[in-house]
Amino acid sequence: MSFIRPKFSTFVQAHEEVIHNEYWYGDGPPVLGKSFSKTKTIERPYQVIDIIRRAEKRETKAGNDILASALQTLTDKLASCTPGFRCGSCACPQCARAFQRAKVASQEECIKRAGQEPCG
Ligand SMILES: [Zn+2]
Repeated sequence: MSFIRPKFSTFVQAHEEVIHNEYWYGDGPPVLGKSFSKTKTIERPYQVIDIIRRAEKRETKAGNDILASALQTLTDKLASCTPGFRCGSCACPQCARAFQRAKVASQEECIKRAGQEPCG
């Protein structure tokens, strides 16, 4: 694999490494299948935002202003996720895919090394 090997020791550092490395948002290995290609993933935030906006309207009509406000904040966060300015939300299809790719790459590397040295 040709990705930059990150050095981190906490989940927060791992999270930051992924959202600051556009490699994980591309189509290089590991490949997660046709349904999770970069092109298809770029389209998904619009679908998710549409669903969240409908939920926000429903909550506003129901008088749940705090929940409606939280949904608005989430919508804004997902809408602002662009290359170089990743939102890092697990609700974001692009960032969730990047986290999944990084996780798969790490697991593959760990499994590969399992017979040679302890994983950790
Ligand atoms: Zn994102």
